[in-house]
Amino acid sequence: MTRMKPSPNVPKTPPTVHVERTPPETPLVDVMNGSARWEARVLDHGLIALLDVMPRLVPEGQTADHAIVQAARVSYGQGTKRLSEDRSLLRYLMRHRHTTPFEMIEFKFHVRLPIFVARQWIRHRTASVNEYSGRYSIMPDRFYRPTPADVREQSAGNRQGGDAPIDAATAERFLRCLDRAESIYEQYEELTGQGVARELARLALPLSTYTEWYWKCDLHNIMHFLSLRLDEHAQHEIRAYAQAMVSLIEPIVPVTIEAFRDYRLEAVHLTRLEIEAIRGDNELATTNRRERAEWDAKRETLRL
Ligand SMILES: Cc1cc2nc3c(=O)[nH]c(=O)nc-3n(C[C@H](O)[C@H](O)[C@H](O)COP(=O)(O)OP(=O)(O)OC[C@H]3O[C@@H](n4cnc5c(N)ncnc54)[C@H](O)[C@@H]3O)c2cc1C
Repeated sequence: MTRMKPSPNVPKTPPTVHVERTPPETPLVDVMNGSARWEARVLDHGLIALLDVMPRLVPEGQTADHAIVQAARVSYGQGTKRLSEDRSLLRYLMRHRHTTPFEMIEFKFHVRLPIFVARQWIRHRTASVNEYSGRYSIMPDRFYRPTPADVREQSAGNRQGGDAPIDAATAERFLRCLDRAESIYEQYEELTGQGVARELARLALPLSTYTEWYWKCDLHNIMHFLSLRLDEHAQHEIRAYAQAMVSLIEPIVPVTIEAFRDYRLEAVHLTRLEIEAIRGDNELATTNRRERAEWDAKRETLRL
């Protein structure tokens, strides 16, 4: 058997890497003002807390929006620009859906939320999530209970949604039904105490039970989450979290949130049929009832 000779080009030890550490050109400030967390209370026992941001440190006088503009300019190799130019570049990026610079910013949250809200939230796949383990630990005795005014009747127009508050007597009956669901907790505790595995005992708990997670996501995908979950078609309870999330991130990326409102959240998207209806002052060329209802809603917004 012939032995392979070691190649003379392969170094025996890895080369030493020299790391150069450059101090900032201007003093840096913490975008969270030195806080450990910024917390907002949501629903009855829920919360959303901002734990960390990337970039956490920005040049004095700037906001984290700065990182978006910096990323967008890297291809041009241009130096620092005036803040007003930064703002118009960022707004241009938002209008033209140049999305990757917005991925340069990341936010990490701690969220306490009912399981039925978590089920909707987890559908957003681009985040990193670590959830409290009901296999490992006892689920806390904490349940979401809507206020009587938040007990909504089934919407007639939207099969997925609720509408106005239901009458007080029916709301009261529903809340008593939740009382019974929550009373299961006593047996859950008892049975786990008697040795039933936590991973099975939790099967008895209702969807209103609160869970907790860490949720980290970039700004581009957060805006996607917000555009869907702030919308009036989203369920009231997840909208409450989305609204609190905006309040937490807005002071950190104010220029982005302003542009997001101007060009996406409060903008109206027109279909080709709708443009033709406006141009010809015609009816919408479809018999689809839902599409017509959507057009009516847009016309109302546009005061047409
Ligand atoms: C009002 C409302 C009602 C809903 N009703 C229902 C329902 O009845 N049943 C139901 O099952 N869901 C329902 N959903 C969930 C919905 O279908 C989406 O799963 C959810 O909104 C997440 O959207 P997304 O996939 O765009 O977001 P994300 O998962 O955050 O993804 C962001 C974007 O990344 C890209 N992306 C991510 N993963 C992939 C992938 N694997 N392949 C290709 N592209 C990818 C896509 O462009 C996507 O838009 C509802 C959502 C809303 C807002």
